[in-house]
Amino acid sequence: MKYGFQSHLAEQFPSQVMVDITEVCNLGCIHCTHPSFKLSKVYQKSMLDPELNKKMVNEVFKHGLNLTKYIRYTSNGEPLVHPKSYEMILFAVKNSGTKVTLTTNGTLLDEKRMKRLLDTGLHMIDISIDAFSNETYKKVRVGGDLNITKKNVLKLFELNSKSNGSTKIIVSFVEQKENSSEIESFKKFWSMNGADDVLIRKLHTNSGSNLYENIAEKNQNKKRRPCLYPWERIVLTAKGMLSFCPTDWYGKSVMHDYREKNIKEVWSGEFYQDLRNQHLSNNFHNQFCKKCPDWCNTSWPEDDQKSYADLVEKILYEEK
Ligand code: SF4
Repeated sequence: MKYGFQSHLAEQFPSQVMVDITEVCNLGCIHCTHPSFKLSKVYQKSMLDPELNKKMVNEVFKHGLNLTKYIRYTSNGEPLVHPKSYEMILFAVKNSGTKVTLTTNGTLLDEKRMKRLLDTGLHMIDISIDAFSNETYKKVRVGGDLNITKKNVLKLFELNSKSNGSTKIIVSFVEQKENSSEIESFKKFWSMNGADDVLIRKLHTNSGSNLYENIAEKNQNKKRRPCLYPWERIVLTAKGMLSFCPTDWYGKSVMHDYREKNIKEVWSGEFYQDLRNQHLSNNFHNQFCKKCPDWCNTSWPEDDQKSYADLVEKILYEEK
């Protein structure tokens, strides 16, 4: 197996820029770290400063052209609670020179907001649903109502096709013991009702912070290999920091303040080079990665199992 920069992974600039635009969420999902994160001192209801979003977009345009496959708006919460989320997405669509995606739970999308979102021209929306029946949805996505989410998503499909359907809309499902019996019904329903794709994703521990379902124990005997993330993506957090791990909730993978450094210099800087060497040699002094069980949930380009980036790039770049 080959590890290191290859395929979509670029040495000059991250192939994926993740933007966690807020720490606030309107749900409390059982497989998510948010319910405990909310009780910690790290939680500050932070909202990304739109000026830092502009800085990131301009940097992607300047240094990431043809290298950054997409900017992914997501959050340690629900992105659409950020009052400037639509403006930030619009700015990225117009100025980044690459594709722009959003991951949302879809619960806050009334018709006016759907139109506003589609009008930004964003390239893909990934809606996390995680259940086929309302009963399971209530158990997994605590605080949500599947009837409302389903109605919203079906309406979004309709509005999207009326406006030329240029935005790809996918639905996703994090498999866990509460919902695994519903995978087939979920896939069938959403593929028949207009989803551009249905993603079934693996449950992970959020870098060890979520001990739900004892996944860490299940992974502990696997032979360690490098985690893909230090070669694939960088995260701009809601607090305006650059971080190396997309599943970190507590700021343990923060490298620099984005107000003081640029993505380009950080990506090829000493910290990253050292972190990558630690992964390649399996000799860690970075305690966060050393103790994390989630490295095995990432997929390298040569793996049989496709990564999230492979699937998203296929949707974004290949015509049906
Ligand atoms: S090993 Fe864990 S903490 Fe390190 S980058 Fe990968 S997922 Fe994040």
